[in-house]
Amino acid sequence: MSKAISQVPFAINEPVRTYEPGSEDVKSLISTYKKMWKEKVEIHMVINGKEVRTKNEIKITSPQDHQHELGIYYKGDMTHVDAAIEAALGAREKWNNLGWEQRAAIFLKAAELVAGPYRDRLNAATMIGQSKNVHQAEIDASCEFIDFLRFNVEFMTDLYSEQPVSDAGIWNRSEYRPLEGFCFAVTPFNFTAIAGNLPTCMAMMGNVVVWKPSDKQIYSAQVIMDILTEAGLPAGVINMVFADGKDTAEKILKHPDFAGLHFTGSTKVFQGMWKMIGENIHQYRTYPRIVGETGGKDFIMVHPSANVEAVATGMVRGAFEYQGQKCSAASRAYIPASLWEDVKKVLAAQLKTVKMGSPEDPSNFVNAVIDKNSFDKCKGYIERAEKSSDAEILFGGKCDDSKGYFVEPTIILASNAKYESICEEIFGPILSVYIYKDEEWAETLKLVDETSPYSLTGAIFAQDRYAIAEAYKALENAAGNFYINDKPTGAVVGQQPFGGARASGTNDKAGSKMNLLRWVSVRSIKETFVSPKDYKYPYLG
Ligand code: NAD
Repeated sequence: MSKAISQVPFAINEPVRTYEPGSEDVKSLISTYKKMWKEKVEIHMVINGKEVRTKNEIKITSPQDHQHELGIYYKGDMTHVDAAIEAALGAREKWNNLGWEQRAAIFLKAAELVAGPYRDRLNAATMIGQSKNVHQAEIDASCEFIDFLRFNVEFMTDLYSEQPVSDAGIWNRSEYRPLEGFCFAVTPFNFTAIAGNLPTCMAMMGNVVVWKPSDKQIYSAQVIMDILTEAGLPAGVINMVFADGKDTAEKILKHPDFAGLHFTGSTKVFQGMWKMIGENIHQYRTYPRIVGETGGKDFIMVHPSANVEAVATGMVRGAFEYQGQKCSAASRAYIPASLWEDVKKVLAAQLKTVKMGSPEDPSNFVNAVIDKNSFDKCKGYIERAEKSSDAEILFGGKCDDSKGYFVEPTIILASNAKYESICEEIFGPILSVYIYKDEEWAETLKLVDETSPYSLTGAIFAQDRYAIAEAYKALENAAGNFYINDKPTGAVVGQQPFGGARASGTNDKAGSKMNLLRWVSVRSIKETFVSPKDYKYPYLG
């Protein structure tokens, strides 16, 4: 154990590489992409520090070219989930007894590995497997993941430093114990950083973890595991399994030692898991912690005083970056009639220059959606809007899956404020716009608040400070991350802790001390230096 009260390095956000055309950075990243594109990968599970292969080989392709075989991954079954639980529980005591500085060092080292030697590889795996362009891969797979690792180490020490006061003659302490049992991390396809953060932040606090990544993010998941192994993460602390999500959840959520769920993904899946936990509540050793960040229907609300270029830019970036597949993506915009013609002109001019295609060409702003299901879902919304008397396609609308799953950035103009594409999470490059009468600003704020069950992100654009204040209050519960004169995406670790309420999740703010608090169980310790020797208090005479 440590004989010093160490200070961890002061966390700062990783500078984002700009990848300007012709720069060394972009040349290096694209050449890594091309090399990896030709390799045939073979992705295994990692259980108790060992590479695990099975006979069930699943082909991996890329969203931008579904005929191109990247390689295979080995799918596991419930025997592997059992083995992962056993490995986690087996590693628990030693990991729990390791000093926090040793744990911190592993994750700080992992951050440096991502920042340096693994940066191109992790970014390229994200570009190939999840269809992100150079910028989207950089801000996610590298910068956000590095930030999570560095800031969480700092937040961990902040938390450990929070200690109670002590009266004369006694010493009070708080000890931040890991949860008693093992934790379960279930991660989505759309952010490599989230896939890395969910298991690591629990492990950082001394927990042992079974991690099930999305089968659509498996390529970059393996790179994360390689990094953690090289950083010195001991065997069994994080066990990565590729098995059916529902079966895995059923198995794990029945286990008496299950102690915490860290989930990010869709609302329906999370609610199903919460229900399973409820059904099994009588058999756990301890009440499990449940953290879930889920869906969104994120808004842009525009006041007549707003700057038109800022609004159009917020819409294009907010709705179409990463093909609208960010949980925070703007998917509904409310524009006052007096501004609409001007906003439309700027939107048209900007969208005319937007290029769509493979991330291999860094000039493509829009890439492919993740898979056929997503492609068909987007196409369905577009086709129904084409036929609907409540909606029209204003921009885009073309879908082409001949090579990859490409859906043009699409704007649906809806005359009915409750039209399906304004209310439902689509998770694709489709933005629905509703034009409101300027004098109905206050009613429209109410509409924004009440239109969807979600409450993840939202943005208000206005120059008028009274209008900003009014929206700030009226939309108090409509978004967990609220933006003023900015797009509703791109939260930065340490700067805008991220998470939503209502159907969008438990709002435990990834990338903050609040989140880490969920993965510890505090022990309060009182030590009395000179113990009383008689039961009689003074009042007894
Ligand atoms: P998803 O719910 O389909 O999958 C998430 C994870 O759950 C995957 O690992 C998947 O394999 C697993 N899974 C699927 N069905 C399961 C089941 N029945 N039981 C247990 N596990 C199961 O989500 P996705 O398509 O990967 O990601 C997109 C969704 O995630 C969107 O709804 C988006 O809004 C949400 N999301 C939210 C946030 C946030 O911070 N709020 C961040 C990213 C993504």
